[in-house]
Amino acid sequence: MKKVVKFGGSSLASAEQFKKVGEIIRAEDARRYVVPSAPGKRNDQDTKVTDMLYNCYQLAVEEKPFLDLLNKIHARYKEIINGLALELSLDDEFEIIRENFEKKAGVDYAASRGEYLNGIIISNYLGFPFIDASEVIRFDSQGGLDSEKTNTLLAARLEELEYAVIPGFYGSMEDGTIVTFSRGGSDITGSLVARAAKADLYENWTDVSGFLIADPRIIRNPKAIETITYRELRELSYMGATVLHEDAIFPVRKAGIPINIRNTNAPEDSGTLIVEGTCRKPKYTITGIAGTDGFAAITIEKAMMNSEIGFCRKVLEVFERNGISIEHMPSGIDTMTIFVHKNEFEEKEQQILAGIHKAVDPDHIELESDLALIAVVGRGMRSTRGTAGRIFSALAHAHINVKMIDQGSSELNIIVGVRHDDFKNAIKALYDIFVETQI
Ligand code: ASP
Repeated sequence: MKKVVKFGGSSLASAEQFKKVGEIIRAEDARRYVVPSAPGKRNDQDTKVTDMLYNCYQLAVEEKPFLDLLNKIHARYKEIINGLALELSLDDEFEIIRENFEKKAGVDYAASRGEYLNGIIISNYLGFPFIDASEVIRFDSQGGLDSEKTNTLLAARLEELEYAVIPGFYGSMEDGTIVTFSRGGSDITGSLVARAAKADLYENWTDVSGFLIADPRIIRNPKAIETITYRELRELSYMGATVLHEDAIFPVRKAGIPINIRNTNAPEDSGTLIVEGTCRKPKYTITGIAGTDGFAAITIEKAMMNSEIGFCRKVLEVFERNGISIEHMPSGIDTMTIFVHKNEFEEKEQQILAGIHKAVDPDHIELESDLALIAVVGRGMRSTRGTAGRIFSALAHAHINVKMIDQGSSELNIIVGVRHDDFKNAIKALYDIFVETQI
């Protein structure tokens, strides 16, 4: 058994958190490759080291004094080192960083130091060899990840080492220039390491016990999702549920390696397992509910629209020309409705309306804003009759008017559009019917 374990910033924010991480790793010999983030927030008022590095480098670029802030960053690491009673000094590393900031080595270089330094500490703490991610995570000259080259380099290095620490979030181009992923990108490094190591499991340790069935800001103490497929996860993240960086899914999915989201502060919880496929019956008919606010709908009406060849294309072209992405497109016999993000649409509203008039000469256009979309997602819906019926009766009982319905052909999700004011109540009603009453 071989596991890759990635720890997020809050899991490595202080010496206390490092000790929990140490215990987790030592508890299982299979936990062999460790991918750390930079130290995150210790409390709500705190600043992530990555943000401090971005700010500090900005000062350097503006030729303003940056040493005070750099010393504060150094102090965060010293606190961890002292709290763990390690014989380790980062003085030389900070001297190099200072020089490179003066030489303006690049914003990605600056941000990457958070993970790099945390990697040195954790490798010292665990006694695992350190691999600088710049040697094994390769970006092309456009700054995009070269995943095949990365896989070759990483696999070769990991083959030589039974245990290792590989810092998250960054890598380098062929010429040595440091490049980072987008924010939260250590998740991607973990995934790449898991693929290259041919791991049995990628454990992603964070500060929540996995994905929750619904947003805890709307539902008090929602239940956690035990098992979710990659496809279900895609549907839920599209609708706003986030725990894992989106790009972290592809490398492990390709290799058939499951991801287990775990909680460093509650290691006894089994968390959420993300898998390619499973015959494990989901506990509830639905796997999760997610929603996003802030949509607008444009309904176009024209008699005999459905016999006019090219009608849809002409309408859609207007949106395309204006650079507006379309989220959903329910239609009737003489109407079509287009759902778009309200704030994107607002800026171009009049151009688009004029464009539609010119393109298809409609009888009527109606606009509606302040709409929310809610996705009810679950592989269990496929084999259960009446899921849609239950959704609509739950919403009707809660006096919520459904503005739109869209069921994906995969039968994996049903999306309903409701008014912004009904958004939270709709989610509550759906959670109640599918989870609380255990149907
Ligand atoms: N430290 C980086 C960030 O704050 C990367 C990560 O934590 O995954 O975005």
